[in-house]
Amino acid sequence: MQQSPSETPCFAATHYVFDNLEEAFAQQPVATVSRINETYEEQSIILFLVKGYETGPTVWIQAALHGDEHDGIVACARLLADISPEELRGNLIVCPVTNPTALLAGTNASPLDGVNLNRVFGQNVDPASYSSRYGQWLADHITKHADFLIDLHGGGRWLDVCPFAMVASDHDGAFNRSMAALSQVPLTATFICHDEAKGMLINEVCKNGIPAVLLESGGGNRWTDTAVHAHFHNIRLILDQLGAYTADPQQKESETYRANCKPLQIREIAELRFLKSGILTFSRQAGDIVRQGEELIRVLSYPELEEHSIICPIAHGVILSIHAASTVHNGGYAVMLGKLT
Ligand SMILES: [Zn+2]
Repeated sequence: MQQSPSETPCFAATHYVFDNLEEAFAQQPVATVSRINETYEEQSIILFLVKGYETGPTVWIQAALHGDEHDGIVACARLLADISPEELRGNLIVCPVTNPTALLAGTNASPLDGVNLNRVFGQNVDPASYSSRYGQWLADHITKHADFLIDLHGGGRWLDVCPFAMVASDHDGAFNRSMAALSQVPLTATFICHDEAKGMLINEVCKNGIPAVLLESGGGNRWTDTAVHAHFHNIRLILDQLGAYTADPQQKESETYRANCKPLQIREIAELRFLKSGILTFSRQAGDIVRQGEELIRVLSYPELEEHSIICPIAHGVILSIHAASTVHNGGYAVMLGKLT
């Protein structure tokens, strides 16, 4: 991976350091950036508070809730390097690494318990697990301090994703404000999620009346400039729509922007898993529109050394995410399809 020096992730130099958000909100001067060294059960949770010059919304922006999704971390670095606090109306709370133990282990979930931190608010998770306790701490902090949540994700180690958003719809007012904030963001699809089974952070936060969106970009086990730029630009467009920070006019004029002004609206998904272990020999692309009976992905299995295909089971859909690594495990995630009518 070659990056020019200007593209190297670099967090803003900060003159103020605090132990928690309450202290920072009380003591930090306006138009400055601070670093906040929070701790949860002996794990360091690093936050940055950008305090604007004028009043406005407080937007919580976080990345790497899943430890193998790195594009958002670099997007947070670029945002902090790029933003001028004196032109900000409101505040940004930026958490570049939301799941530190998972990041350091190179895994999606924390090695402390192997629990998916974005599934801990549902019925089927042990509430005593580390990830459940930490997830609740995180949701409480966001609800207490923020007016809007942007949760940055990607395909991580195994998947590729198309640029899409998940929007929590558990609270009508918050949902409508989320959709309005996304109205100028270029996306392939918008998946409107009600908290039925998944137990995602955006649903937990939305239940408390806070608009919450999850943005997907990138994957393939490495961060890329394309995926980082997508996250960075989309954050800037949301901040613009919220009245917090004016976007550069050129951010609304790119080819991708014009092509994706009207994302597909998804209300139902189909999740397909591998039934064999082996290696990947064929796959469609994230963002492809597919129809029933079309081959989506194929595995050369071991020990049979036979090819097994996964076929599109729904009438009409869009591939939101698809397995991209050569290694395939029986039971592993293969494809997420958004159902189209
Ligand atoms: Zn994720």
